[in-house]
Amino acid sequence: MVTVLDTTTPEKRVRHPEKAHRPDQPVQARKPEWIRVKAPNSRGYAETRQIVKSHNLFTVCEEAGCPNIGECWDKKHATFMIMGEICTRACAFCNVATGKPAPLDLKEPENVAHAVRTMGLNHVVITSVDRDDLDDGGAQHFVEVIQAIREEAPGTTIEILTPDFLRKEKALEKVVAARPDVFNHNLETVPSNYLTVRPGARYFHSIRLLQQVKEIDPTIFTKSGIMVGLGEERNEVLQLMDDLRSADVDFLTIGQYLQPTKKHHAVIRFVPPEEFKSYETSAYSKGFLMVSASPLTRSSHHAGDDFARLRENRAKKLAAAE
Ligand code: SF4
Repeated sequence: MVTVLDTTTPEKRVRHPEKAHRPDQPVQARKPEWIRVKAPNSRGYAETRQIVKSHNLFTVCEEAGCPNIGECWDKKHATFMIMGEICTRACAFCNVATGKPAPLDLKEPENVAHAVRTMGLNHVVITSVDRDDLDDGGAQHFVEVIQAIREEAPGTTIEILTPDFLRKEKALEKVVAARPDVFNHNLETVPSNYLTVRPGARYFHSIRLLQQVKEIDPTIFTKSGIMVGLGEERNEVLQLMDDLRSADVDFLTIGQYLQPTKKHHAVIRFVPPEEFKSYETSAYSKGFLMVSASPLTRSSHHAGDDFARLRENRAKKLAAAE
């Protein structure tokens, strides 16, 4: 027998080195019928992919393995993930690769702005990996991306979905001063799950971050989201809604957690659509301006249409208060 050594193909980087030695988690054999999505193979999808690649950009749609990619990319709705495709954290739910990130791409703000204009987006969502290795957590880079989009596509509204800037003094203030239209920061799950699901983060820090955005600039819409199906109790979700309302958060998204690999947190339960509806009703009764709760809801899903409704709902509320 002859053993052939392949010396031409570069060694593939392990995507989740920190998870490789963890025990396998149970995998749900079959997804319920309400989770099914269309395969990503339309012309619009191919065009979006081409624009993303030709600008040397990353998207959370691909990196997180989002189930909505076929639908969103067909309409040229992609969520750009800035500051590279390697995250410094290792959350148990997330499919983004973990490790030591590359230096920032200084051309990225310009490339994002150009892609936004080429795609003709009315509304764009920009997110990032966690960059705990940078002194400001990447705040200045967010600012530069926002400024570049404002310059190149002045009609496009901008939503940012940020990390928590934990222990990065003045980072938040810097980003808020760039005046994104929507400031989103996801809580991801209820506090009792933080140690197992989001161990690098602190629940009350995240709540406080959202509250500070409103304190600094009350005109900016704030938004947060969670996944369900991670073992949370209903009462915990209701308490989380109250915590977000105490921070004056405008918009809540709730979607089903899906397990990227057997090394990630298990899906404890597929939450049926009627429970999402019930969460939506409760959230509206607690005073959110907008709620999106369904199995396939993701932070950036239909973000443009939702932003238009968010603005309308605020205008109606202000008019009613006069
Ligand atoms: S829901 Fe968001 S992350 Fe998923 S494909 Fe759509 S834009 Fe991308």
